[in-house]
Amino acid sequence: MIGVMALQGDVREHLAAISACAGVRPVRVRRPSELDAVDALVLPGGESTTMSRLLETFDLLEPLRARIAAGMPTYGSCAGMILLAREVLDGRPDQQQLGGLDVVVRRNAFGRQVDSFETDLRVEGVAGDPVRAVFIRAPWVESVGPGVRVLATVPRRTLAGIDTGTAAGRVVAVRRGAVLATAFHPELTGDVRVHGLFCDLVRETAAAASTGPVGSQGFRARDRGVVEHGRGRITDPIGVSRPE
Ligand code: GLN
Repeated sequence: MIGVMALQGDVREHLAAISACAGVRPVRVRRPSELDAVDALVLPGGESTTMSRLLETFDLLEPLRARIAAGMPTYGSCAGMILLAREVLDGRPDQQQLGGLDVVVRRNAFGRQVDSFETDLRVEGVAGDPVRAVFIRAPWVESVGPGVRVLATVPRRTLAGIDTGTAAGRVVAVRRGAVLATAFHPELTGDVRVHGLFCDLVRETAAAASTGPVGSQGFRARDRGVVEHGRGRITDPIGVSRPE
């Protein structure tokens, strides 16, 4: 079972995107008991400082750290990526990290000119057309530790033709084992291929852990194409605040 952390952020969009994976009915996670019940988790986009606070309030911080350290497949988009990082630059001093990814990220990293933008980029592991990437006051990855795979970087131009300047070439999607993170929001475009990649990782992890035939079933991505919901939106559906 795949859960979506439902404390804040674009929970519904992730639930919809994960639902496109065959045989998967994602559930909302707000309590430690609900976390215990899932095999994998999505950390949505939103506001990492708020989520960090809510994780403490809801007694989820330590259980979640433990599950991630124990190898639970986890996917974080944007604020979710920030939470998964080993270290955050330009974060708030009291902001808590879940760990799970040996990367350093810079919060609100894109300068004013490309603060929020859309572009098409290649994501390793996603076949076919490039992925439409929506960046909303996104982080980028400053450095990756050994064993972390870079899946995507920022191209030279946004969809609107703006030069991404010093942001070009920055790392915006990474993976280590079954922990996946994107600085952008595939859940907002209707293209479910990145979520399909995550569902495949969940299925592979279950199969590897299984001694019997059960773990090899389920989680096959049904539809790697585009479904029509909310394509192209960039206006703040997730309550993201401006950088401080
Ligand atoms: N800037 C936000 C943060 O610090 C992330 C933005 C997002 O998730 N779209 O958490």
